[in-house]
Amino acid sequence: MVTSSVALSGKLPGIEQSIFSVMTALANEHQAINLAQGFPDFTCSPELVSLVDKYMKAGHNQYAPMPGILSLREKIAVKTEKLYGMKYDPQTEITITAGATQALYIAISTVVKEKDEVIILEPAYDSYLPAILLNKGAPKYVRLESPDFEIDWENVKKLVSSKTRLIIINSPHNPTGRVFTDADMRQLQKLVADKDIVVISDEVYEHIVFDGQQHNSLCKYPDLARQSIIVSSFGKTYHTTGWKTGYVMAPKEISAEFRKIYSYAMFSTITPFQFAYSDILDQPELYLSLSEFYQKKRDLFRSCIENSPFKLLACEGTYFQCVDYSDYSDETDLALAERITKEYGVASIPTSAFFHDKFDQKVIRFCFAKNDETLKRAGDKLCKISK
Ligand code: PMP
Ligand code: GLN
Repeated sequence: MVTSSVALSGKLPGIEQSIFSVMTALANEHQAINLAQGFPDFTCSPELVSLVDKYMKAGHNQYAPMPGILSLREKIAVKTEKLYGMKYDPQTEITITAGATQALYIAISTVVKEKDEVIILEPAYDSYLPAILLNKGAPKYVRLESPDFEIDWENVKKLVSSKTRLIIINSPHNPTGRVFTDADMRQLQKLVADKDIVVISDEVYEHIVFDGQQHNSLCKYPDLARQSIIVSSFGKTYHTTGWKTGYVMAPKEISAEFRKIYSYAMFSTITPFQFAYSDILDQPELYLSLSEFYQKKRDLFRSCIENSPFKLLACEGTYFQCVDYSDYSDETDLALAERITKEYGVASIPTSAFFHDKFDQKVIRFCFAKNDETLKRAGDKLCKISK
């Protein structure tokens, strides 16, 4: 034990430990099924593991080029053009990062200066706000409300001022499972047209969209793409959240600024894994079948908790199912999530954690990226909660 001899005032007063760590620790302490933190409990493709092994044994164990190995950037460019019709230059406009969290942090740091206003739609993934605050930005919030979490673009418009520098969007959306429509994207495009506003589009769940809907990647909208940074992650697509590898796509002028910061925050990311992802991207059927794979899990989990006291909300994408428990209990969502972890052995995430003011809509989130057996066991436990 070393006791600090200096007093640090701390740069994130009021920001608590991430709810994902909190609920995972509670799940472990009570040997509960962890449907809280979003990660699969099944293995990734053995082929992908063999590829990493192959590239390590082949000696690819030193620094990769700063923006990532070229073949991976080229494959991402090809995939993006095929799926969304936008051609990013792999040399200057695509950068590989150590996961989406890091990409988001650096993207926000690239854009936001002191007092710049940043609009975020809450509930919002919990890494956005700390990154804005560390860059001394001024967050402005739009609240999306249960059960539909529709975006009222008039409300967004009211927040836009001459100081607005950045808008952060996320679709498919964590935690609500909502997917932005073409109309949403057009409203956004209209809102920022001819303004000096950057959009960061967090698309880490781009391949997990249900019921025949399409992912409306921001880059399908060429005018929007000219003022935007798209962030994605291989963690969700290949069941490898622990490998922390993601990427960013942005016009070359924005990418150049992003790379300037990235090169001093990280320089480059894990080499053999980049080669492995590059090879596996040659099999588009793997990411193209992901929606079907997770839709089955969504449907199974929904049927497993049909007889629980919770009301199922819509889930259009991601691997998260939100439920409304307002008919069942008046407890705060945090108190309920903690209690069902301890008493019934299933951990979840209270969605108030995704609001700066801990707005409690009586909604909790379950992750269904789990083996069918895990989902059935969790369902049995949740159905034991008396109505
Ligand atoms: N954005 C969203 C919306 C997420 O849910 C996550 C978490 N998985 C991330 C970013 C971070 O992704 P990564 O694990 O690649 O850092
Ligand atoms: N993205 C995951 C989730 O929403 C967790 C990531 C993390 O633990 N930071 O559950």
